Amino acid sequence: MSRFMNKRFDTLEAYTPGEQPKDKQYIKLNTNESPYPPSPEVLDCITKDKMGALRLYSDPEGTALKEELATFYDLRKENVFISNGSDDILNFAFMAFAGGEIKASFPDVTYSFYPVFADLHGVTCDVKPLCEDFTIAVDDYKTNEHFVIITNPNAPTGIALSREEIREILLANPDRVVLVDEAYVDFGAESSCSLVKEFPNLLVVMTYSKSRSLAGARLGFALGDEALIADLETLKFSTNPYNVNRLTMEIGRAAIRSHAYFAQCSENIMKTREETVQALQAMGFEVLPSKANFVFIRKDGLDGGYLYETLKDRGILIRHFSKPALAEFNRVTIGTKEEMDAFLKAVRQIIQETEAST
Ligand code: PMP
Repeated sequence: MSRFMNKRFDTLEAYTPGEQPKDKQYIKLNTNESPYPPSPEVLDCITKDKMGALRLYSDPEGTALKEELATFYDLRKENVFISNGSDDILNFAFMAFAGGEIKASFPDVTYSFYPVFADLHGVTCDVKPLCEDFTIAVDDYKTNEHFVIITNPNAPTGIALSREEIREILLANPDRVVLVDEAYVDFGAESSCSLVKEFPNLLVVMTYSKSRSLAGARLGFALGDEALIADLETLKFSTNPYNVNRLTMEIGRAAIRSHAYFAQCSENIMKTREETVQALQAMGFEVLPSKANFVFIRKDGLDGGYLYETLKDRGILIRHFSKPALAEFNRVTIGTKEEMDAFLKAVRQIIQETEAST
């Protein structure tokens, strides 16, 4: 930290994204990207004319994209907020809906960016433990005191709450915002976006980064009551009004139109996930019940850090978390069938080698 940095940030610990090493070609199962390319329609949507129009600012209202998203989710454009990836929306939401006496309440095992946003904005956290089976303890969030953030399905566990459980949390918090982070919802969980019309305190945050194969385009959106969306717009217009670029807006619209393609990719990922789960269980792994495009796994006698390192040496990247409660586990993104076969083969070899050496 330079001597010029505001002392307020003395103790801020920045978020660490999953590694993106450049030393060799890896099978990347560490950052929950899609193994499939964007849809053909997306690949074709950036014409020379569209590139030429880059001399002009993008539409700060994002009207065309918002209208298509609103139609898709059966809402109005006033119910839609778009941003440069959904992390950007989470940042705005912490700024807007927590602070002072309003704490941010979320599980101790969840997306590790939340405590960073809280710290950044001077928000106190009310962190709740997960249940022993790694599910979210729904009753812990029924206080009507805090800004509640639920990742559904949760990360890195992959375990989902039902829409009814989300409804219970919403009903119990009429005076607080409940943010449901649905980054991974398209892989078998129930979305809460149909509750938006019913609950003025619900903000559903979604991303194009996972099921829509567009992590690099940086596009996220939120669905919520008009007043909540207006709050986010105020903060956006107070920081970076053109936060979504022209090309990304085009890509976002083309992606909505090619929904069938992405739904098929999600189906493939879910099928590969189930095959992977079976193979891992047959090798003696405990696999938490995942509704996401990743699985969270551990095996007695096999150190999580060791498995991560040994796979990396063999050109396969998975995600290991050093937090003590999670250190036995690894999170593995579901890739193509071929990638998962290579992963499973390497894991089998590592287990055999470990057993032979003991
Ligand atoms: N929420 C969760 C739970 C995530 O895992 C991620 C991806 N790391 C995000 C939000 C942010 O995704 P993006 O900014 O790419 O939309």
